[in-house]
Amino acid sequence: MTLTIPFDNSYARLPNAFYARQAPVPVQAPRLIAFNADLARIMGVSPGDVQEMAEAFGGNKIPDGAEPLAQLYSGHQFGHYNPQLGDGRAVLLGETVGSDGVRRDIQLKGSGPTPFSRQGDGRAWLGPVLREYVVSEAMHGLGIPTTRALAAVETGEFVLRERPLPGAVLTRVAQSHLRVGTFQVFAARGQLDSLQKLTEYAVSRHYPDADGPMGLLRSVRDAQVNLITLWMGVGFIHGVMNTDNCSIAGETIDYGPCAFMDSYHPNTVFSSIDQMGRYAYANQPDIAVWNIAQLATALIQQMPDKEAAVEEATGIVHAMPDLLQQKWLDRFRAKIGLTNQKDGDLELISGLLTRMANNQADFTNTFRALGTEQARDQFTDPNVFDDWSESWRQRIRHEEGPSSVMLKVNPAFIPRNHRVEEMIEAAVQGDYTLFHRLNSVLAHPYSDNPEAADLKRPPTENEIVQATFCGT
Ligand code: AMP
Ligand code: MG
Repeated sequence: MTLTIPFDNSYARLPNAFYARQAPVPVQAPRLIAFNADLARIMGVSPGDVQEMAEAFGGNKIPDGAEPLAQLYSGHQFGHYNPQLGDGRAVLLGETVGSDGVRRDIQLKGSGPTPFSRQGDGRAWLGPVLREYVVSEAMHGLGIPTTRALAAVETGEFVLRERPLPGAVLTRVAQSHLRVGTFQVFAARGQLDSLQKLTEYAVSRHYPDADGPMGLLRSVRDAQVNLITLWMGVGFIHGVMNTDNCSIAGETIDYGPCAFMDSYHPNTVFSSIDQMGRYAYANQPDIAVWNIAQLATALIQQMPDKEAAVEEATGIVHAMPDLLQQKWLDRFRAKIGLTNQKDGDLELISGLLTRMANNQADFTNTFRALGTEQARDQFTDPNVFDDWSESWRQRIRHEEGPSSVMLKVNPAFIPRNHRVEEMIEAAVQGDYTLFHRLNSVLAHPYSDNPEAADLKRPPTENEIVQATFCGT
């Protein structure tokens, strides 16, 4: 068997200003940890033998048809503009168009330095590679737009972090790696030709029906509204919603210090670098609006009539909070089994969330258990739940089959942080059992899977992960 990837590289056909040609830097002893055969099939990728795939996805052998490059972008990091970021530890090998007609990027992450690396070593250690593999595939299983994982390779080298740690490379697949920051870099530099070309490229690749820059803005806004709502619905906290981590395609991208909440609290933050809680759970919708406002600012630069463009863009951005609120309400209605809308639904949902926050109720398990005896057990004071449950039961009398709605939006399984950490610790010792087990259980998060009941359990006091670290 020979690894065959039917590349068709549209990004490499764009002008040189968009990227730097850069091959992955070879590693000492690549060893294949995982290969996602299901995803490969959709993409039209035929697997090769294990050693060949280790060489290809470790960066030692460039597959036929690949045109490796590091993409240029900039972005706002924690609200401050950084004029040049770019792929500092990743290269795009190229793209395939899958059997589903979807064009996808194939990127190696952790593949060595590039012209955009600044002080970084261009490498990744095993922990964040496995974390991204598991969490991004879990996101896909949950039905949430996301980049995916095609392969993971151990490099046989150590990377120096707080201590030497085993190195790894992730093969990441995305509908594209276009970010808000990809637009910002050309807008900030006044490179309007490039900005225009990029806009046309993004429209034709992602939103062929969108009408020009403002049509693109509207489409990206809607995609972000959808994405953030889905995050909120499963208790996901991205952790670093900088504009360079905000995908034009509306996928979850750049899994760094991300985590799913165990017990519900709106102010939950995990990221060790987010001291101010800018990217806390409940702030995510507001931050998404802020990011779309940055995209608007960038896109406007190319419009001939600035005044009219500012007015139109302002309207598009200002409509976003209401769209978010509406989608959020729809999603949380479904989470408590409501399919029709009634006055008082918002109060009913908020009433539950407030009680959950005050009673350390587990976000995932509480929603999953609604309508069963176990729901009240999630609350430190179960009477508080009974109280709410009474009014909920009144309300769902008007509903048909609330539980069938709920079971489709309330997962039984999420990649719990303490399990992800446990999985990484084991993998560092060479034991990949939990890594493979998590992947297989999390592929079907809405099915009750009695054999995996242990993976539903929230962390004990000792198991709680207090902080997560950036994926560097
Ligand atoms: P991220 O935290 O993944 O959004 O990355 C932010 C920026 O830092 C991007 O430009 C990355 O390419 C760059 N970066 C992160 N880690 C490294 C590393 N180990 N070496 C070089 N560049 C890095
Ligand atoms: Mg990033």
